[in-house]
Amino acid sequence: METDRPSEKELLRGWREDPGSSAILTDIDGTLAPIAPTPDAARVPGEIRELLERLSRRYLLVAGISGRKTEEARELIGLDGVVYFGNHGFEKLVDGRVEIIPEARPYLERVRELEEMARRELGPLGAFVEEKGITASVHYRNVPREVGERCVDFVRREGERLGLRVTVGRGVVEARPPVRADKGTAVRALVEEYRPRRALFMGDDTTDLDAFRELERLREEGLLEEMLRVGVASEEGPPGIVAEADLTVEGVEGVADVLRELASP
Ligand SMILES: [Mg+2]
Repeated sequence: METDRPSEKELLRGWREDPGSSAILTDIDGTLAPIAPTPDAARVPGEIRELLERLSRRYLLVAGISGRKTEEARELIGLDGVVYFGNHGFEKLVDGRVEIIPEARPYLERVRELEEMARRELGPLGAFVEEKGITASVHYRNVPREVGERCVDFVRREGERLGLRVTVGRGVVEARPPVRADKGTAVRALVEEYRPRRALFMGDDTTDLDAFRELERLREEGLLEEMLRVGVASEEGPPGIVAEADLTVEGVEGVADVLRELASP
């Protein structure tokens, strides 16, 4: 059915006509890479990688923003011309070097201290302490329940003693610096650094809504002239992604269409 909503082509016109002042910011898993049975099995399709490579040569900025470790985000996309933000917005990879955001740096030693203690105390019980840099993650999915409880208690007590923020997920307890870092702060940092006239963000999940909302604030503040929120619809995705998007596409295939349009002369 025809509606009077602007078409994809119209919405992307500003980007195509002025790539030197335009930024393309994107989530990775579920947006560029189809969701796989395990995170290790996720891959960015060759066609998408080729399109991103062309875009990174032509546009002011192409950036991948992910909850994964920054090096993993880099491996998934596999391109040097792309800027990477990883670890929930705490880290950025520029020219092969991982940089922790300045506000979080003072906490690195404390996170390391917690990791070391957890490895000593909880490792022998079967918990897995993931090397994640500026955030500490203790996984206890495959251990008896009492061990899991002990992991949570331990990280909570020691994390709080060290002034870290502790969160409990499914089978994992994490400690991180008590500063705001998410995909929204990552978007803001990139816009402040690269100063594009317009920026778009593509994402499929709840944490991507932080990026959508920050784009809107940046435009309200006048830091961006134009912004576009591209929601990637999927069966498991949260309804907010479609509700808050200016343009909705279907899965990774729909993202490929957007990239093709952005890359067309
Ligand atoms: Mg995603």
